[in-house]
Amino acid sequence: MTRGAITIQTDRCKGCGLCIQACPQHVLVFGEEFNARGYRPVQLDERERCCTGCGVCALVCPDVVFTVYRQPVRRAA
Ligand code: SF4
Ligand code: SF4
Repeated sequence: MTRGAITIQTDRCKGCGLCIQACPQHVLVFGEEFNARGYRPVQLDERERCCTGCGVCALVCPDVVFTVYRQPVRRAA
C-alpha cells in the first residue's frame, strides 16, 4: 500500500482529459480557471488523499505535466 502525491504544472496542460480517464482513483478533474494557453487545466479533487502515486497520470500525459511522489504506508504489526 502506498500513499501518493502529485504536482501539476498547470501552465503546460492542454486539457485533453487523458489523465482524468486513466486515473484509477478518479481524483483528477478539470479546474474552473483557464491557463495561459486557454485551457482549463487538470487539478486534484477533494479526494486527493486517495492518490496512490501509481504514476498512470504521468505515463499517459503527452505534455509532461505531472511529477509523482510515492510514500510507503507502514502498518503496525
Ligand atoms: S498518481 Fe495515480 S492515483 Fe495519483 S492522480 Fe496520478 S493516476 Fe491518479
Ligand atoms: S493528460 Fe496532461 S495535457 Fe492532458 S488533461 Fe491531463 S494533464 Fe492536461
